[in-house]
Amino acid sequence: ATPTALLVGTGRGAQLGILIKGPEVLESARGIDTVVLDKTGTVTTGRMSLVEVVPAPGEDPELVLRLAAALEDASEHPIARAVVRGAAERVGALPRVESFGSIEGLGVQGVVAGAEGTHAVLVGRASLLAESGQPLGPELAGAKEAAEAAGRTAVAVGWDGRARGVLVVSDTVRPTSAAAVRELRRLGLTPVLLTGDNALVARSVADEVGIEEVIAGVLPTGKLDVVKELQAAGRRVAMVGDGVNDAAALAQADLGLAMGTGTDAAIEAADLTLVRGDLRVAADAVRLARRTLSTIR
Ligand code: ADP
Ligand code: MG
Repeated sequence: ATPTALLVGTGRGAQLGILIKGPEVLESARGIDTVVLDKTGTVTTGRMSLVEVVPAPGEDPELVLRLAAALEDASEHPIARAVVRGAAERVGALPRVESFGSIEGLGVQGVVAGAEGTHAVLVGRASLLAESGQPLGPELAGAKEAAEAAGRTAVAVGWDGRARGVLVVSDTVRPTSAAAVRELRRLGLTPVLLTGDNALVARSVADEVGIEEVIAGVLPTGKLDVVKELQAAGRRVAMVGDGVNDAAALAQADLGLAMGTGTDAAIEAADLTLVRGDLRVAADAVRLARRTLSTIR
């Protein structure tokens, strides 16, 4: 590889809005045949909004939202941002948080102390609550299924050993994602949608942008394993992601691409960054790398 051609490629990348970690990165694009796309914040905007608060029978919806938002205030997750913004519009000051823990890819937990008393609160996947002995009752389970069937994400809220409500958040597919998927296909890449979110939501996003292969419900460590498995099956994998939970998979991928709108962890782990967070630029990046490599040969 002539260093000059790679440097020219790097400069051209900057013009396109692609920050390339080093000239040698362009070599990694050789033979890429699969592109794994994270859902939240990559294919979607990740700017979620809170659309519904469903209390369990007998529970106060405002309390459900207040306690959940108090905890989520300490989380960077797009769901957390939506819950906190939603609470700012609907309820008053949030109670104090005495302890906080994030369970990456699953939810958040902690102790919240307010006028209503002190509670051990858990917010996240229904499976997380079920594992801690707080399964959703039939009403909440029904609300969760209805939300997911509509392509929305349902977040469970529980405290003091019982599930108390479900928060429904919705995300928006980026307007450029469907075109980006078409362009990636035209380059001969097979797109795969990868998410920690549930299968119904994932399927509805995949249908909207034209992706067939969906891997849903994975844990952050599972994302890394998915990339490894694809590689073990002989595929050369590019991965595009934005979250803390994508970092390990981005580092493992043959070519890791971070959304410039994403977290520092993702940007540090990736080989290149799509500065404007436009997924179509992922196709530009692959095209640029191929062109640069063919100049070298
Ligand atoms: P993605 O892979 O689509 O970026 P994540 O792996 O970050 O999604 O999250 C997967 C699931 O874990 C979410 O859909 C949500 O149910 C739950 N979750 C993760 N973090 C939080 C949080 N801070 N608050 C509530 N739920 C969360
Ligand atoms: Mg994400």
